[in-house]
Amino acid sequence: TKYVVKKPFKDFLPEPEDFGTKHENFDKLKNDQFLVKAEYISTDPYLRSFANKRAVPYDQFGFQVGNVVESLNPEYPVKMTVVSHSGWRDYAVLNGQPDDMFGIKPYDPQIGKLPLSLALGALGMPGITAYLGFLEICKPRTGDVVCVSSAAGTVGSLVGQIAKMKGCVVIGFAGSPEKVQYLRDELGFNYAYDYKAVKDVKATILSVCNGIDCYFDNVGGELSAGIVQCMKRVGRIAVCGSISTYGSVVDQKMPIIPHNVKVQSFSFTQWDWEQQMAAIQQLKAWMQIGSIKAKETVVQGFDQLPTALIGLLRGDNIGKVVVKV
Ligand code: NDP
Repeated sequence: TKYVVKKPFKDFLPEPEDFGTKHENFDKLKNDQFLVKAEYISTDPYLRSFANKRAVPYDQFGFQVGNVVESLNPEYPVKMTVVSHSGWRDYAVLNGQPDDMFGIKPYDPQIGKLPLSLALGALGMPGITAYLGFLEICKPRTGDVVCVSSAAGTVGSLVGQIAKMKGCVVIGFAGSPEKVQYLRDELGFNYAYDYKAVKDVKATILSVCNGIDCYFDNVGGELSAGIVQCMKRVGRIAVCGSISTYGSVVDQKMPIIPHNVKVQSFSFTQWDWEQQMAAIQQLKAWMQIGSIKAKETVVQGFDQLPTALIGLLRGDNIGKVVVKV
């Protein structure tokens, strides 16, 4: 069974009725095909941002991790655990080639004793994004002031923790008092604020430091417009995402960036496979020794995928949201 999007989303938050399911009948495997049974399926903000650019109905896409249950491909034998971009479906027939959208090959996450679901979060695409996006684009130095938006999300919470490990002073913005408390008390952020309650973003930041060296931007929009006013000279902004503008028909208003600040957008796909896998290995090592934490919400049931995505977009959760099939 796979999910499809039946109707264009009217607002930022889709409705459960916008989605529908379809049964797929598979022929016998041929050539180098193998059949994967999904264990966990991912919900991610980009699912919202891509939706407006597609004609409906379309197959809902997305990452999943599962096990090979039948195979004609020696590289992907039965029982191998495989991460792939197979969409919201419980069974997928793959052939081991990179898929057309992200150029991603199915891969064995080698999670070991850690929860398999992490292959979709801290030890998967969002982990790669946080690690390479922050270290390669922000190029943090000890003592730098680092600011992160959507700081209690999957990517943001990793960026903040990596920044702490690199000896930076970390400021996070997130959408509720509970998230703010989590960032301060559990992840060790130096400062954290509920952006929905902050009246003057610039004044708030400048009350605790004399400016920001690195801004890792996950949200765009009004919050980022306030944050970039605090950039120091020769600061670096990594434009990771702009969830506050996803689904919006209005152009994303580019804030006025102060002089001498480097702004760079990026996609995790720009780093080669070896770098991506090395990022996952490093994150895994840190996680095993407890240097980074990754909170996740596991929603039970394939039929909960639409509501899980809606909850993610509404900001209901701390960290990653995955669905257990
Ligand atoms: P998150 O877990 O951060 O996303 C969900 C969170 O977004 C919510 O919990 C909510 O947190 C926040 N949010 C929702 N609506 C708004 C809004 N209007 N304004 C501000 N915040 C909002 O997701 P990820 O960590 O997976 O992704 C973070 C960002 O990184 C996204 O923009 C995503 O598209 C981007 N991304 C980019 C990649 C790349 O290669 N460049 C790869 C992966 C992700 P809150 O309660 O704090 O509002």
